[in-house]
Amino acid sequence: MGTVYAIANQKGGVGKTTTAVNLAACIAEAGYATLLIDMDPQSNATLGLGVDKHVTPTVYHALAGGVALASAVIETGIPNLGLVPAGPDLAGATVELPRAAGSENRLREALAPLRDRYEFVLLDCPPSLGPLTVNALVAADRVIVPVQAEYFALEGLAAMLDTLSLVQRELNPRLTIAGMLLTMHDGRTRLAQDVESEVRRHFPTLVFDTVIPRNVRVGEAPSFGRPVIHHDPHCAGADAYFELAKEVAARG
Ligand code: ADP
Ligand code: MG
Repeated sequence: MGTVYAIANQKGGVGKTTTAVNLAACIAEAGYATLLIDMDPQSNATLGLGVDKHVTPTVYHALAGGVALASAVIETGIPNLGLVPAGPDLAGATVELPRAAGSENRLREALAPLRDRYEFVLLDCPPSLGPLTVNALVAADRVIVPVQAEYFALEGLAAMLDTLSLVQRELNPRLTIAGMLLTMHDGRTRLAQDVESEVRRHFPTLVFDTVIPRNVRVGEAPSFGRPVIHHDPHCAGADAYFELAKEVAARG
């Protein structure tokens, strides 16, 4: 049975999608059957893999019922990597889901028949703690929290951890934190070093050893519709995501 990872932080622009796409690509490259599910109506993970955001069916149709999640899986052209795309209609789910009883379990239920087919399932969450993120946290075994190595990095992390505890207590006792991941780290700046030591001091056991550097190749890869390891396999960003994949696999 595969392990499901939610990539979550209610802050936008911290590197969730970049991490979801590139970690998924590195895990797939290592030979594991991997599924990436785009849970954000902005569809950045979908677009970042070169898939049109108007493709159907999407994760929305599986959450709304009537369509099996398996039938929404697209082969990405990257060996071992499947994608369940999102489109703008997923925004409707944030209104519809809370109106139905038990709706926080929709993704978990939709995913159940697929869990034997994939060794790793990654869920790219939207920048909020709304119903889509809650669905992802209920479906997940582990959560990875990207933290941008910038001023205010710790801001909002307390709210994120409170939400995780609440979900653990009320909805999904299996959920554990895989780790916090420092992203967009600019090693030349004092600020990035200070933020890194502060985050590590606050959460001594929770932060991944691997740090993702700020890297032009990582930033531009989505505009070519591909993960950075296929855009520039030898850049610092590709190396870092490979290291992260090893660390995630080792942490189990
Ligand atoms: P989120 O999903 O949390 O909103 P994204 O992954 O979309 O964040 O990242 C926000 C922006 O920062 C995007 O334009 C992305 O390409 C860029 N970015 C993310 N990580 C890096 C990195 N390591 N180096 C350079 N740019 C990055
Ligand atoms: Mg995103």
